[in-house]
Parts: sequence; C-alpha cells; structure tokens
Amino acid sequence: MEVIPVTPRGYCYGVVDAIQLVREVARDPGYPRPIQVLGQIVHNRHVVEELDRLGVITLDGPDRLKLLEKVEGGTVIFTAHGISPAVREAAIRRGLRVVDATCPDVARTHELVRKLVAQGYELLYVGKRNHPEPEGVIGEAPEHIHLVEQEGDLDQLPEEVQQRLATRPVAVTTQTTLSQWDTIRIIAAIRQRYPDAEVYNEICRATQTRQEAAVEAARQVDLVLVVGDRRSNNSNRLVQVVREIAGKPAYLIDDENDIRPEWLQGVTRVAVTAGSSTPSHITRAVIERLRRWEA
Ligand code: SF4
Repeated sequence: MEVIPVTPRGYCYGVVDAIQLVREVARDPGYPRPIQVLGQIVHNRHVVEELDRLGVITLDGPDRLKLLEKVEGGTVIFTAHGISPAVREAAIRRGLRVVDATCPDVARTHELVRKLVAQGYELLYVGKRNHPEPEGVIGEAPEHIHLVEQEGDLDQLPEEVQQRLATRPVAVTTQTTLSQWDTIRIIAAIRQRYPDAEVYNEICRATQTRQEAAVEAARQVDLVLVVGDRRSNNSNRLVQVVREIAGKPAYLIDDENDIRPEWLQGVTRVAVTAGSSTPSHITRAVIERLRRWEA
C-alpha cells in the first residue's frame, strides 16, 4: 500500500501562534495564576493535554460567559476562534489579566462586521451553529448579524429580521473554516433572495489550500484519512469535501489508534491529511503506522 502525505496539511499560522502564546504565558511568572484558557485553545485534545502538562487549565463548555463566572482570578486566555465583546468586557470586569490568542484572520472578520454594522448593513453570517467562532463574531452585534447554516435557515429568520433584510443594505460574510463548495452554494441561495447583497467570503487561505490539496490528492487514491479532532470544524470539512467533491471514502481519525483494518482492505493508495489544529507528530505517527501496515 502506498501512503501519500498531502501538502499542505496540519498546523496553520493562526494555530501555531495561539499555542506559542499560551506556552509563553505558562512559562512567564509575571502572569497571575492560575492560567486558564476559555475553551480549547484550538480544537485538538492532544494540544489541550500538552498545555495541561504545563499547568494551563482549559475551561471547556458551550457558554463562555457562564464559564467566566467560575473564574475567581488569575489570567484568562481567549482562544484562536475569537471572542464576543460581552465576554471580553466580563473578563475585564472580573479583574482578570486578559490574553487574546484570536487568529488575525478571525480578528479581521470581527473588524469587517463592526464596520458594516456601523454603516447600517444587516448581515447574514454563514457558519456553524454552536461553534465558538460564529458566537464571537455574531456577538459583535447580535441584533444585526444572523446565522445561516443552510439555505433553509433563510426562511426561518424572524419576521422583523426578514423585514430589515428587505429594507436595509445586506452583506454576507462567513466563518473561516467552512467547505468552500458549501459556501458558494449557500451564498448563491442568499443572492437569489437578496440580489444586491455584498459578499465578503472570509474562508481563510489555510482552509482553502488544505481543502483543495485534499480533493486533488483524493482523486488519485482509494481512501483519504484526515487526522483531526472530532470538534475541529476544518478537519470535519476536509472529510466532507473529499467525500462530496472527490467522491472518495474519507474518515476522521484522532490518531493512529483510530485506524480500522477494514478501511484498508483492497486499498492500494491512501492519502493522509490533517486539520489545521492537528500537531504534526500525530500525523507523522499515522503515516508511519500506515507505511508499516504494508510491510
Ligand atoms: S484555520 Fe484559518 S482562521 Fe483558523 S486559526 Fe488557522 S489561519 Fe486562522
């Protein structure tokens, strides 16, 4: 069996910088203790476990404002996914030392939506429900930014929102880690309904290049394994685009222990890629394990 590592794969610059920032804070005695990250710094349990060994506490849960209520003191780090103004203000009010590891690409979306809302736009934001990135961006102006996960959501928007969308300038923007093919389809549906909508596609370059490389590689193999955490949106999207765009089987694995022998039956070529929050040593171990498999 031939093993083809896909390039590019794995860590993007936003993830590298966020993890590095947490390591620096953990080593610097100048930051008040305890050091706490509000959510997983990036969605990968191996990364969270490494930071745990450095004494960094990950506060995990769906509601970051509620998580903050439990924080009595010390330093709080905002994750690469970005944060709403309400959470930032609550952390400052509680007298916490704040460190912001938001990826610059996500920060740019925050700036964009602030500017558009200030100019009087009503915004449709294409993104995943219950993911921290949309929560942070929509939190910039919840009354004017509306989440659209699927085309059908356009019909579910409350009446007063539909009215504002019909009478005010409309802009569309997106989460950074979506499937680019899904997003094109959803934006086309939005444009049918709001032909004058201005579109700001914010899918980041790291996401685009990893998806394109995965689809390209998939066309030449029998199977694609995506190394990434179940909670990582960009990892899940890699599986999705390989299946939907390249029409090849693909599975998400957390590490080498998740490889199932039945997936490899009859497979002569397998490609391996990784989400942008997956440490390279985990992906290397998967590639090595597969190479030994053929021996
Ligand atoms: S996937 Fe994109 S938005 Fe997310 S951390 Fe990486 S570069 Fe930033």
